Order: sequence, then structure tokens, then C-alpha cells
Amino acid sequence: MSLERFSVSPSTRPTAETIRNDILDNPGFGRYFTDHMAHVRWTLDAGWHGHEVRPYGPLTLDPAAAVLHYGQEIFEGIKAYRHADGSVWTFRPEKNAERFRRSARRLALPELSDEDFVDSLKALLARDQAWVPTPASEADESSLYLRPFMIASETFLGVRPSHEVDYYVIASPAAAYFQGGVKPVSIWLSSHYKRAAPGGTGYAKCGGNYAASLAAQKEAAAHECSQVAFLDAAENIWVEELGGMNLFFVFRDGRIVTPRLTDTILEGVTRDSVLTLARDEGLTPEERPISIEEWREGAASGEITEIFACGTAAVITPVGELVTESDRIRLSAQGDNAVAKRLRTRLLDLQYGRREDTRGWLT
Ligand code: PMP
Repeated sequence: MSLERFSVSPSTRPTAETIRNDILDNPGFGRYFTDHMAHVRWTLDAGWHGHEVRPYGPLTLDPAAAVLHYGQEIFEGIKAYRHADGSVWTFRPEKNAERFRRSARRLALPELSDEDFVDSLKALLARDQAWVPTPASEADESSLYLRPFMIASETFLGVRPSHEVDYYVIASPAAAYFQGGVKPVSIWLSSHYKRAAPGGTGYAKCGGNYAASLAAQKEAAAHECSQVAFLDAAENIWVEELGGMNLFFVFRDGRIVTPRLTDTILEGVTRDSVLTLARDEGLTPEERPISIEEWREGAASGEITEIFACGTAAVITPVGELVTESDRIRLSAQGDNAVAKRLRTRLLDLQYGRREDTRGWLT
């Protein structure tokens, strides 16, 4: 079996079952970590080697490691779900593997094969499957969040692609991201800060993009908004995405529109899944540019009936209002977000094994 590439050094001090169960009862998001992590090393001379699962713990990194200075780093986010029969599944991991390779190319990091990526998740889950929460009901959206990441670990202060790289996967039990489920959220429109520019790294999942979004995120928090919507950097009129989620606009006539992919937008796995599932729901998906004016006018006229954000962490979340420097854009036809709710249920039912997986999306 290919998983045997990963040698296993079991933790000698795993979390006690009672403590783990307490954590799983109330995991929050990103606060607790499982007993092990997966690791693969890369060097310019030897390529990828040393596949292992080892005890979770601090990394030993030289203070001159390139990642600490130049941010040569990428990551991914994907969840493992426990089904009613106790089995554990990930959702479309090959899409994350592909995006991880795309991100690696942009950050001049070595590409990890899709097989190594998916097997690293399997190897870690095989060890730490007791950490995958068992949902108490259909409303319980708990899961085990997996965080693969790759860092430039060479001890060298010259600015060039690192000759030594480490890849890890850590795992963290997670409750629903936004407590309160499908309650519409307020979004802040960043008028000054930009997330991505043509030719930049917007389509890659690299730490720098998120570091650069934090000042805008602070502005959002000051305006009691939970996320930031970014416009394009060149013309400042095109809606791109949120700091950590893609956006969809539902029109009265059944069209469902999301900004077309460019090098400034992160291609979400959820986005791609929603485009497919929307057809199953009898909607007409469209990928095209959408301007802030179209948002404003469509919201006022009632042409746009729903707006929602989507991503692995928060699934599908309705956008209640867009807060700007000068006004608040609300839907005049603010309804019950029926489309967002239907798509959300369809997606969750698939992920939690309550609906037949006709597309082979579960691994
Ligand atoms: N856009 C950005 C900037 C993100 O960080 C994420 C989360 N990975 C998404 C969109 C949604 O992607 P996914 O559906 O794959 O989680």
C-alpha cells in the first residue's frame, strides 16, 4: 500500500481520552491540535523524501530560515467529516492538491505530487481518526480541519528560492466557523486596501496574502463586520472575493453569478462545487465580471435576491449587508436566503454522507 511510504513514530504522550472528549465537545476553531503531524522533506539534491507521521510539536527552525524573512510559504485548508457509520471522509482532496501545486509554482517552491498530498492526509487521519468529531445531529457541523503547509526552511539570508523545504500537515478539531449557522453576516468593503494585483499572488494560497489582508480585517472589525470584500486593484470597480471566501450573487430569474477566475482570485473548492450543485438545483451558473455598481443597483432594484459567501471553513454563509465608507448596501428584496440554504444543505449532506456521492467527491 502506498501509505506505507509514511513511517510512523507514535506519540509517547498522547492526549488522554477524557481530555480529548472534552475538547471535542467544544473545539472552537483552530485552538486544539491532534497528537501527530505528517511531514515530508525536500532538498534540491534529493527531492522529496523522509515521509513520516510523527508526534505533534514545535518545529526546530534556524532563526535565519528563509520563510521567517521572505515569507516563502503556502498552505491549504480541507476538512475530514465523520459519517453516521463511523467512517471518515475528505471532500475533493485532489482539488486542494492541484491548488497546492499551483500555489507552489507561484511561490517558487517545489511541487508536491497529488499522491503525496492525499496520502499525507490519509496517513495522519489513520493515526488521529479518534480526533474527528462525531456530529450529534444534522445541525452539528463539527469536523477535523486539516492544514497542510510548506515552508522554505533553508538557513540562508539571500533572496532566492530555498534549497530546503519542509511540508507538514497538522489537524485541529473544529465546530461551525460562524456560530449561529446561516445567520446573514455584515461585510466591510475595503476602499483603500487591495488583496491582490494582476501578476501578483492572489490566486495562490500563500501566507503573505493573508498578512496583507489583516489591516483591512481590522477596519472591518471596527465597523462590526466579520469579513472584508475586496475590489480589483487596477480599476477599483470589479468585485473579487472576501479575505477568505468566494462570493455568489443570486438573481431573480434563476441566474447565479460568481466573479470569473483571474490571477487575483483564489479558486475555491467550495466555489467549484457550488457551480456544479447549482445546476442540480435548476439554477443557471455564470462566471463573469461583476461590478460594485451592479451589486448596488441589483440590490436596490430587487434584481439580486441573495448574496452569499462560500469556503471550506464556513460552508455557505448569506451576506446580509455590505458596509462601505459612505453607506450600507442591503437587498431590497431581503428574503429568507432560500437558495443559499438549499445549496448549503446539499453540500453538507454530501460531505456528511447523507446524500449519495454520485460524482466521487469523497475520499
Ligand atoms: N478565497 C480565499 C482568499 C480563501 O482563503 C478561501 C479559503 N481557502 C476561499 C476563497 C475558499 O476556498 P475553499 O472553498 O477551497 O475553502
